[in-house]
Amino acid sequence: CGIVGYIGTANAKELLLRGLEKLEYRGYDSAGIAVRNEEEIKVFKAKGRIAELRKASESEFDGNVGIGHTRWATHGVPNYENAHPHQSTSGRFTLVHNGVIENYEQLKKEFLSNITFKSDTDTEVIVELIEYFSNEGLTTEDAFNKVLSLLHGSYALGLLDEQDSEKIYVAKNKSPLLVGIGDGFNVIASDAIAMLAVTDTYKELVDNEIVIVKRDEVIIKDQDGQVVERDSYKAEIDA
Ligand code: GLU
Repeated sequence: CGIVGYIGTANAKELLLRGLEKLEYRGYDSAGIAVRNEEEIKVFKAKGRIAELRKASESEFDGNVGIGHTRWATHGVPNYENAHPHQSTSGRFTLVHNGVIENYEQLKKEFLSNITFKSDTDTEVIVELIEYFSNEGLTTEDAFNKVLSLLHGSYALGLLDEQDSEKIYVAKNKSPLLVGIGDGFNVIASDAIAMLAVTDTYKELVDNEIVIVKRDEVIIKDQDGQVVERDSYKAEIDA
């Protein structure tokens, strides 16, 4: 399983698909991408290999921002509905997740009793919670932070907000996730190998940080909202 993401000026779809192909070695049963342009986000998903996802994502639609996911099912069978990305009820928020949320049933009962879920995943609870706190009046960053504080378990997360084409929100806990630094673009990846074709410069993320990835800036904040400086390193791998 694995995650990739891109925000820049190139066409995101092909970069995401190639990134996911590089992550095939990690094992997965389904895959998906979300691509966005200025106005909208479109999700393409498929059970099986990335070749299937390639077919499923054949469309004129492309954008300069996107997130991608290979799934290793833990909650819900491998099928189209359970494949990531998952979207909130209104369609505003789109999320990819690697890992396992242990308290998703409790969170569902406590906050989301009137939501109709489209999948059997623990992940869909996260994206609906972000929408829930956003509807309560929190900014997306604060809603994301609030939800992270409620989650028990492991996660690497990439989040898109349809109302903001300038950001990918990122966080991790006990699952790997890196930010790759480019010139006029930035990427995220579970493993540097996924995005080595576009950059060899990476920053490690620490558990429980919240990271805002923009085209020309990566802002890392600790749990208290303080900006953290993080040195980058050169990934030396033969891709
Ligand atoms: N627990 C999530 C699911 O079953 C994510 C699995 C993964 O890490 O790919 O959909």
